[in-house]
Amino acid sequence: MFYWGDEVQKQGMLSRPVTVLPGVGTRKAQSMKGLGLETVRDVLFSFPRTYKDFQKVLSPDQVEPGSVQLVHGPLLHLRERPISQGRRLIQATLGGQLGVTWFVYHRAPGPSFLYRKLQKVREVWVYGIVKEGALFPEMASPEVFTRQPVHQGLMPVYPLVTGISNDQRVKWVRESLKYLDEIQECLPQNLLDSYLGRQEALRQIHFPKDWEHYAKARERLACEELFLFHLGLQRGQRQQEGFAHQPDGELAARYLRQLPFELTEDQKEALRQVAEDMEAGQPMRRLIQGEVGSGKTVVAEYGAVKAVASGGQVAMMVPTEVLARQMAQRLEKSLGSLGIRVALLIGNMKAKEQQAVRETLAEGEIDVVVGTHALITDKVEYRNLTLAIVDEQHRFGVRQRAALLGKGNPDLLVMSATPIPRSLALTVYGDLDTTEIRQLPANRQPVDTRLINPERRDDVYRFVLSRVKQGEQAYVVFPLVEESEHMDLKAAVQEMEELQKGLLAEARVGLIHGQMGREKDEVFQAFARGELDVLIATTVVEVGMNVPNATVMVIENAERFGLAQLHQLRGRVGRGEKPGICFLLAYSSSPHSRERLEVVRKSNDGFFIAEEDLRLRGPGDLLGVRQWGQPFFRLADLQEDRELLRLAAEAARELLSGDASLQGYPELVQELDQYPI
Ligand code: ADP
Ligand code: MG
Repeated sequence: MFYWGDEVQKQGMLSRPVTVLPGVGTRKAQSMKGLGLETVRDVLFSFPRTYKDFQKVLSPDQVEPGSVQLVHGPLLHLRERPISQGRRLIQATLGGQLGVTWFVYHRAPGPSFLYRKLQKVREVWVYGIVKEGALFPEMASPEVFTRQPVHQGLMPVYPLVTGISNDQRVKWVRESLKYLDEIQECLPQNLLDSYLGRQEALRQIHFPKDWEHYAKARERLACEELFLFHLGLQRGQRQQEGFAHQPDGELAARYLRQLPFELTEDQKEALRQVAEDMEAGQPMRRLIQGEVGSGKTVVAEYGAVKAVASGGQVAMMVPTEVLARQMAQRLEKSLGSLGIRVALLIGNMKAKEQQAVRETLAEGEIDVVVGTHALITDKVEYRNLTLAIVDEQHRFGVRQRAALLGKGNPDLLVMSATPIPRSLALTVYGDLDTTEIRQLPANRQPVDTRLINPERRDDVYRFVLSRVKQGEQAYVVFPLVEESEHMDLKAAVQEMEELQKGLLAEARVGLIHGQMGREKDEVFQAFARGELDVLIATTVVEVGMNVPNATVMVIENAERFGLAQLHQLRGRVGRGEKPGICFLLAYSSSPHSRERLEVVRKSNDGFFIAEEDLRLRGPGDLLGVRQWGQPFFRLADLQEDRELLRLAAEAARELLSGDASLQGYPELVQELDQYPI
């Protein structure tokens, strides 16, 4: 049924570290690690984020609103003017027929860098989305080239980090493609009849000849992603016996009695289901879906109490060290008084400390351990792990979940704050029973959300300062801008610094972005302790942070975020006694982006927002906007690929029905282990 290369076990170039690639030394390798690239194989399997379509170069009179185009023409009517403190607007036309605008940050006197650069040239190439304008078509913030781009056709654009350029990534991909022969087919024959072979697909996904070739390659690789995903999900599912926890006794009663509030009906129902699952002899596999602030942690705590009361241990895995620390503190407070011993285990702790925690854990002297991936390394042993809790599941893959379950087949409780449309839930969480907590605790007030035009940006920050003066705290969120000629990460960081020194100069401001290391933690801790008034951040504050004193959130370039993401972000404020307020600063005036943002402004129901997000997603979203399913899959799109998913799931089921643990397919098992899902 399967075709495998002649030398199945061959460990060739692909498994070697990236340092075998030309121009990659230990420093580059370190940066690449940040992108998840450790081996040559990783380079090959890390696909472009998007493509630049340089197939055609249009003249200004040929452009058609509605798509992304590369336009070449004389640069005319160039001018620059300030629009708010530190912010400039550059306007020009290409041949008087296409309007182009750029926003730049520039506080110093004199013209901005981009303006001076443009003054020196007569003609330019601009690349961006063409929109209908008042007088003629327009492009907002296009990428601009002063020479014709070298690459013709579809140019792959890869995710980048500081120290790594797109050109370098292109070069490394070309190099890794030389070893394509080592790649084995992994789809069963009946699927192969309809889809591209694996090697060809890999070649085309990086350097597609045209959009049609791209589509074929994407479909094939999405199919394999879904197939392997389903194999992983279905393999060895619930084969084993689970641990049957005892019915609630004194400890659970004490826990529930000491809660300072009345449980909501949804919470009560969730507790009931968790109790039933945990007491059953079959292992629990349950997902609790509920918005930020809906009170999922109570459910987790209750499960933990129940496990400990039955002599078990609990591991709680969260996606970041900041969250791990917060959660450990929180559990210490709520469970410590019951005599439950809580510990923290993260990679950032001293080796000795980690060692000590691991030892006490193995001896059974710790009841509840909270941590990051550090919890699933081979070194960690549990005395009697009976409950695993995974928070914010969309940050973890099936494999990590499996690794945790490998530590003694505990009951599993997954908690997700990203409500996903019902139509998709089954796909993503196919193997889990789900509980929804839709009702927010009665005392929670919805976040007052406002759409703001850029002209009023200064007012917004004045408002922030007025709240700061009253002792409250604020978040300012920037989208993480990826590579582009004048808006790269550096530019984003610069924008953040401008704000820190400019409009927010009177406040104590901390700054965090995704590429910071340990300091990120420190800045956040300072904010949590109230030593900073404002936290300016890229989306790293998205998940689970809890600073009840924070009441204001400003989201810059709100149109660049997904709706669900915006909803999640604003859930960070108004978590204390005072209500939260959220400003969405939108720099695009297109009706579509307005309509999207209106959804978030008007509704506070995460499940509804998720449905709308899906509905409003335009077909043009290939370029840029985060797609549904992306937290889960790299290529597969849960909405569009439903049919593919059905086929892949069926193929996986068929294969497993003949060989439940895949004993006859060691190569496929190996593939599953390598697959980064
Ligand atoms: P989630 O984990 O779902 O984001 P949390 O469990 O952190 O939400 O709860 C948010 C806040 O609401 C916490 O401060 C928690 O103590 C409080 N809370 C939880 N359930 C209730 C309830 N039923 N009534 C009042 N407050 C509650
Ligand atoms: Mg059980």
